[in-house]
Amino acid sequence: MSRFVYADNAATTKITPNVLDAMMPWLTEGYGNASSIYSKGREALRALNEARETVAAALGAQAGEIYFTSGGSEADNWAIKGVAHTLAKKGKRHLITSVFEHHAVLHTMDSLRKEGFEITLLPVTDKGLVRVEDVAAAIREDTALVSIMYANNEIGTIQPIPEIGKLCREKGVLFHTDAVQAVGNVPIDVKEQNIDLLSLSGHKLHAPKGVGALYIRRGIVLPNLIDGGAQEKSKRAGTENVAGIVGLAEAIRTACTDIEGRAARVKKLRDRLIDGLLPIPRCCLNGDREHRLPGNVNISFEGVEGEALLLWLDQNGICASSGSACTSGSLDPSHVLISLGLPHEVAHGSLRLTLGDFNTVEDVDYILSVVPGVIERLRAMSPLWERIIANEK
Ligand SMILES: *Cc1c(COP(=O)(O)O)cnc(C)c1O
Repeated sequence: MSRFVYADNAATTKITPNVLDAMMPWLTEGYGNASSIYSKGREALRALNEARETVAAALGAQAGEIYFTSGGSEADNWAIKGVAHTLAKKGKRHLITSVFEHHAVLHTMDSLRKEGFEITLLPVTDKGLVRVEDVAAAIREDTALVSIMYANNEIGTIQPIPEIGKLCREKGVLFHTDAVQAVGNVPIDVKEQNIDLLSLSGHKLHAPKGVGALYIRRGIVLPNLIDGGAQEKSKRAGTENVAGIVGLAEAIRTACTDIEGRAARVKKLRDRLIDGLLPIPRCCLNGDREHRLPGNVNISFEGVEGEALLLWLDQNGICASSGSACTSGSLDPSHVLISLGLPHEVAHGSLRLTLGDFNTVEDVDYILSVVPGVIERLRAMSPLWERIIANEK
């Protein structure tokens, strides 16, 4: 029996009813400008202050260290360009990141390279983990910043962030982490984990699109991102998106209230899905199984074109994604899968299913009832698969 299964929670998520409820007053009668003096304005300001407290508390930060942005990409850009431009004045023009970051980080680094900054791209292991020793070996006298993602958006691997934080603090190098996929899924404490800057985004955790935040540790001064009014301590001007910010705070509050419990539930679904898919011949799980986000499944099927797989799954009501070519509008498969050392044809056969709070055992069993048959059908028409089988003989 056909059903609809949303299994692309790493791409974006549905807004939960409690988040929408928290936002509604600010989309309707609570339209005051938070800078206005009358009570309609002051109410909005109070909501913003409360939201800032909530987000800070979830990260172990102070409210004054949270700056709201339009999302994860903006936070990444601000953190990295801001530190680079500030510390370049002190002769520090070297930045360190990893090869499998989100494009919001990688393309920001590209743009800095064109400005004359030197960028070290660290490799990752075949399991999709950054090695702390590699970070240590890359740090130099003129290193301004290390930027390593908390959890990878494609393969879900969780990086040794507390260890990298400790190392950077000892070496006196600033440390930024893109935690867009991690917030709400992994316990984060910016003080304990020695994180100087952290990016997060609302729409990956059941808040709306177009809102996010950057944590900037007290004492670090970045250049203004947007000049204008006095919003966000004059660093990021523009009338605040009160409803979006309130929604973001509510989503983070909900997600961080019971990380362990939610993670355990989703992990069970994930493991059921992985264990149900792995018996398919010639497939492999991409990324470390242990150090992995609770909802992430990423599997490559040899002799299958990821694009075709996605279309067939869509026909069956399943939303998923792939590291294969055209989804991204380019011919090259995902830089993340290539960074693991996967051959191009294996990377092209990848399927990412990301589960979340709304998924059920029935969803997983439905996916398991559809995928093997689709793989079989696609392989039956694939010249690549014919060659694989011929080579085996
Ligand atoms: C989605 C995502 C981003 C971008 O966030 P937006 O709010 O969509 O700009 C950045 N980094 C990672 C790891 C992501 O998954």
